[in-house]
Amino acid sequence: MNRERIELDSNRPPLLISGRVMNEFCAHARETQPEECCGLITGSPDQRFRTVYRCRNEMTALHRKDPESYPRDGTKAFYMNPTDYLKAAKEASQYGESVNAIYHSHVGAGAYFSEMDQEFAEHEAFPFPDVAHIVVAVFDGQVNQLGIYEREQVGAPWLGRALEAEPA
Ligand SMILES: [Zn+2]
Repeated sequence: MNRERIELDSNRPPLLISGRVMNEFCAHARETQPEECCGLITGSPDQRFRTVYRCRNEMTALHRKDPESYPRDGTKAFYMNPTDYLKAAKEASQYGESVNAIYHSHVGAGAYFSEMDQEFAEHEAFPFPDVAHIVVAVFDGQVNQLGIYEREQVGAPWLGRALEAEPA
């Protein structure tokens, strides 16, 4: 399938989320750089993005074991540890929350939704086909752009917009 990277659309109003939640996944992105971070954000109908669950990025380990199947390491790609995300999703459901977003970071690149990110999100084995995808861009150790990519339904085109913290 032919794909192109999707840039966030700065003509659309930014999506506002809790500053506490944003700080949590931005801190994760700063701590793991130069590797990409990844994780889940769970919530409920009254607060869509409430709880951040960090997951381990296994891409460097996979790349070292099998560079032919995994040509990129964790600085250029992510592979969410399945035990981590299954455990997180189970724990969230015990609190009445569901998985509403996946987040990951780009180090030294913008907060676009890459061809690879789209493949991951649309893969038939991906367990959360209808969640939003948040991309955190890290430059020089600091977060400088945040994008969120969503589609109205599975199969519809992805739309990207900026993500900002709600006023405190
Ligand atoms: Zn990406």
